[in-house]
Amino acid sequence: MPSEQTDFAVIGGGPAGAAATLTLRRHAPQRHVVLLEAGRHDRPKPGEVLPAVAQGLLRQLGVWTSFVAEAFVESRAVVSAWSGETPDERHSMFSAQGAGGQLDRARFDRLLVQSADAAGAEVRFASPVCSAVREGYGWRLKLPDGDIVADAVIWATGRSWKLARSFGAKLRAHSHLAAYTRFFDRAPGDCQIVIEARPEGWWYSADLPDQCRVVACLTDPDLGSEMRDPKSWYRALAATQLIAPLLSSGARETAALVKSAGTVTIDPAAGERWVAAGDSLFAADPLSSRGIIHALRSGILAAYAASDMLDGRGELARKRYAMIARQGFADYVPALAAHYAAAARWDTAFWQRRGRHFQNPAAAATQG
Ligand SMILES: Cc1cc2nc3c(=O)[nH]c(=O)nc-3n(C[C@H](O)[C@H](O)[C@H](O)COP(=O)(O)OP(=O)(O)OC[C@H]3O[C@@H](n4cnc5c(N)ncnc54)[C@H](O)[C@@H]3O)c2cc1C
Repeated sequence: MPSEQTDFAVIGGGPAGAAATLTLRRHAPQRHVVLLEAGRHDRPKPGEVLPAVAQGLLRQLGVWTSFVAEAFVESRAVVSAWSGETPDERHSMFSAQGAGGQLDRARFDRLLVQSADAAGAEVRFASPVCSAVREGYGWRLKLPDGDIVADAVIWATGRSWKLARSFGAKLRAHSHLAAYTRFFDRAPGDCQIVIEARPEGWWYSADLPDQCRVVACLTDPDLGSEMRDPKSWYRALAATQLIAPLLSSGARETAALVKSAGTVTIDPAAGERWVAAGDSLFAADPLSSRGIIHALRSGILAAYAASDMLDGRGELARKRYAMIARQGFADYVPALAAHYAAAARWDTAFWQRRGRHFQNPAAAATQG
């Protein structure tokens, strides 16, 4: 098998991997970077709501103008039936940060990767990394069509942790959650995000570009297994107050997906010549709406850490990076517990489980 040499290999071309690649190109333009993406970003993917704070990060990455040209849906309001049945509406015009976006995720991910390519990185689609083994100071990555030897690696494969063993990282699942998601077209647009708490969990829907819409039910995997069956999913949808009416005018289902969505962290956050970023480092509950922001931010920081590793400051880089990751998680736990506590008005298994975490969020962080 042929093997190639690179300074940096970034594994995974989601927002975290693309942000890391773009940052490496800007920060260390003399170094070679290869971005390895298993897929092609040509399939529907959940994770559509981009908070307004992303604007600064997209500018920092040099992709703001291209992002604006994509004309995604501007988020004008969040409507929720969360702590009670009366809908609460928050309009972005009253937010100091302005409006966020509602994305076609495949198109957004493609935009970031294409920007990395235009910035001089070598981008390879359909290139899944199967395993990584130490070689010299760096890593030999095994791909179906040959090996790549990299001096440093950024691991950004999202919620796929198959490489954890290669890097000697331990996974910690703090909570379990599954998202039963369906996409629709021919849905009239309203530029809104709608969230509704229900006895079985919670639902969200967002108006997406090209008259598309996403609708998802989030519940525990053991409680929601029947949600895989379209009849059960549509029956539960019919009982919602705010979400069901959004599909009443001839919307047509185009795709259905089941994704894990619980909180997972890894330890350590970085090791010898490798750094984890995005969901691979810390996968958050979608209720927190921080997944893409965290992916972009940690991708940028991972790039600086990986660069320091090649410049002989590996230990300091690892320590700093781990400290920032710990702090991010420490901020997240009480905020998430407070969100769930605000909606806990049913005596069902889903809400009882969240209740145990509200009483002791610190324990939830360490014990799951
Ligand atoms: C149901 C649901 C709804 C969500 N909603 C939101 C939301 O509204 N707003 C928000 O901010 N976040 C949301 N999130 C979270 C958000 O989608 C993620 O946090 C974000 O995508 C993480 O980016 P990433 O780059 O770390 O991982 P990903 O986006 O998952 O990208 C990882 C990439 O790595 C590739 N890959 C995997 N394995 C390999 C391999 N071995 N070799 C090479 N490539 C590989 C994958 O193909 C993928 O393209 C949601 C998540 C779920 C599950």
